Formats: sequence, structure tokens, C-alpha cells
Amino acid sequence: MDRRFVQFLMPDEIIKQREKNSLIYLPLGPLEWHGPHLPLGVDPLRAEIAALKLAEETDGIVLPTLFVGTERERSPEMLKNIGFKGDEYIVGMDFPENILPSLYFKEEVFAFLLRNYLELIVDVWKFKNIVIINGHGGENHKEVIERLRKEFIATRNVKILHLMPMLDFTLGIFHSGHATKEETETLMAYYPESIDIKKLPEKPSPLYNIKYAIVDDPTFNGKPSTDFTVREQEDPRDSERERGREIFEKTIKQMKEVIMKEIK
Ligand SMILES: [Zn+2]
Repeated sequence: MDRRFVQFLMPDEIIKQREKNSLIYLPLGPLEWHGPHLPLGVDPLRAEIAALKLAEETDGIVLPTLFVGTERERSPEMLKNIGFKGDEYIVGMDFPENILPSLYFKEEVFAFLLRNYLELIVDVWKFKNIVIINGHGGENHKEVIERLRKEFIATRNVKILHLMPMLDFTLGIFHSGHATKEETETLMAYYPESIDIKKLPEKPSPLYNIKYAIVDDPTFNGKPSTDFTVREQEDPRDSERERGREIFEKTIKQMKEVIMKEIK
């Protein structure tokens, strides 16, 4: 039991927290296909680990993780980068060969839910410093969070941050794709029993984007490999627990700096 979690706190403790620094975290992300080797909760779980660690270091509390997020249909251009023809109707990472669809909420439902949640935290509980830790990189998902964040800080006397548990790419340390090495090894550092690399074909058999719905970062940025497979440096089969922990600890450090600068 982690008593940073709001669900384990008594009413007077919530009030004390509000009066002390009014800092509350909301981790979120959808249950989503992340290849055959990863659990569906990769995004919200990574957000939750980060939120708990950050709450510990900044003396905040953490709302129960919201296993909710959204996706939209992919653009023809993005589909072609991944290796499709371009005229398919594909939502998020739900590629046709996946054996199980993700539980994406509709964009408008996600927006409504998040709006109501923020109203409860800000208008009803009167917290002033809210940090949304978002584990999911879907463009429309991030846009919804940003739109609501801007609206709430413009119309109320609150600070709201929207952070993702991913290292700053400008440091050039690693790439962050979907279900590739970074997500695999960082989750492996904390929940190794939820991952089974053996569910992927053995190396050097290539990981086709279309076949596994595992996509590396350059591909998302318009630079697919020539055969539409996951690049060597992002291959999840090379995941190492120790490096995952190192990367995640650096990530937490970066996030903490932003929070201390913006909120404290
Ligand atoms: Zn993910």
C-alpha cells in the first residue's frame, strides 16, 4: 500500500495536503496494444510509477491512475510511413493483424471525463497545483489534455502541468517509439513479470511494423526503414532491465526539475 495514493488517505489528510502545498498528481493512459510481449497497461503503468516517485520527491499525493486514453484514425501519410497502402482505416496502434484491440475511449468521451475530473480536483477539492502524468503519445490524446490544461489555467487560479514520462530527446540518449526498446526495458525495470520477450520472434527475424504494431521513433517522424521494420537500436529484444531503470531514473529527474521550476 502506497500512502501517496489518494484512495488510501483520510479526509483530514487530503485537507492537510491542500493546505501544505496543494500538489496532486494524476497519472493516465489507455489500455493499449503494445506488441505481443508487453502488457496492455504500459502507458498508464509507466505514468503511475513516475507519479508515485515524483510525489515522493516533491511531497505530493497521487490520484488513482486513470486507465483511459484516446486515439484517432491515422493519416494516409502516416500509414504509408508505417508500411500500409494509405487508404486503410486504422485507429492508433490497432493494426489489422493484432489479436486484441486496444480499449481506446472516443476522443469526446476522454475529453469529457478529463474535464469533469479536473473540475472535481480544482473546483470541488480546491487543489491549486495539478500535475498530469500522461503515458500515451497519441496526437489527439495529447491535444485534448493540452486544450483542457490551457482552458483551466486561463479561467481559474491554478497551475496545471502536462508531462510525459519520457526522456528529453534533445539529450540524444535514446529514441522513444511504440513498444520498442525504451518502453519495454523501462517497464521491465519495475514489472519484469508482466513482460515476455519470447512472444516475439527470435533475432535476427525482422520485426515488421505491420505484423507486430511495434513502431520505432524515426518512423513516426516520417523516416521509416527501407523494409518497414523496427530499427536495430530500438529492437525490444535487446531490452535490459538495468538500463531501463537508469533511463527511468533520469526521466524522473528531468520531470522533477520541470515541476520544481513551474510549481514550487
Ligand atoms: Zn506506450
